[in-house]
Amino acid sequence: MFQRTTHTPEETRRIAERLARLLDPGDVLTLSGDLGAGKTTFTQGLARGLAVEESVSSPTFTLIREYEGRIPLYHMDLYRLGEQADSENLGIDEYLYGDGVCVIEWAEYIKSLLPEEYLQVTIRKMGESERQITISGAGKRFAGLIEELNQTCHI
Ligand code: ADP
Ligand code: MG
Repeated sequence: MFQRTTHTPEETRRIAERLARLLDPGDVLTLSGDLGAGKTTFTQGLARGLAVEESVSSPTFTLIREYEGRIPLYHMDLYRLGEQADSENLGIDEYLYGDGVCVIEWAEYIKSLLPEEYLQVTIRKMGESERQITISGAGKRFAGLIEELNQTCHI
């Protein structure tokens, strides 16, 4: 497990940027946390780490946004779908099992569609600008990745 407390949005982006450097095509990340916790902010850091040049904003009205980078970034926000997400065929599989890094806000809604291995990022709002960021993952690949993140991320 990786856990840090950040005090600015930029610190949150920096952790995500570090993480992004360790990601491979096909990796899936879930982002959990209340509205305003910093899930989209974290995704902006991932984008920077993947050398995405376009600026990342909340995909609320589009559900899925694709960005070109070192690896393509697929950013989903399922908040508006709510409980319907699971039962509808949204074509989400193409992204989950595609060649990009797939980042999902409100992945709770598609739990049964998620692959066996994914990274779970939880952001907890501790104060006005204080956030506790926890990253965990199942499987051998992610255990190694988290260990490396612990060694290289000095925030
Ligand atoms: P979410 O996608 O989880 O709804 P956003 O990333 O859109 O959240 O918004 C997070 C808000 O919290 C932004 O306005 C951001 O500037 C603010 N913020 C303050 N401190 C932090 C921090 N340490 N990390 C991330 N965001 C922070
Ligand atoms: Mg968001």
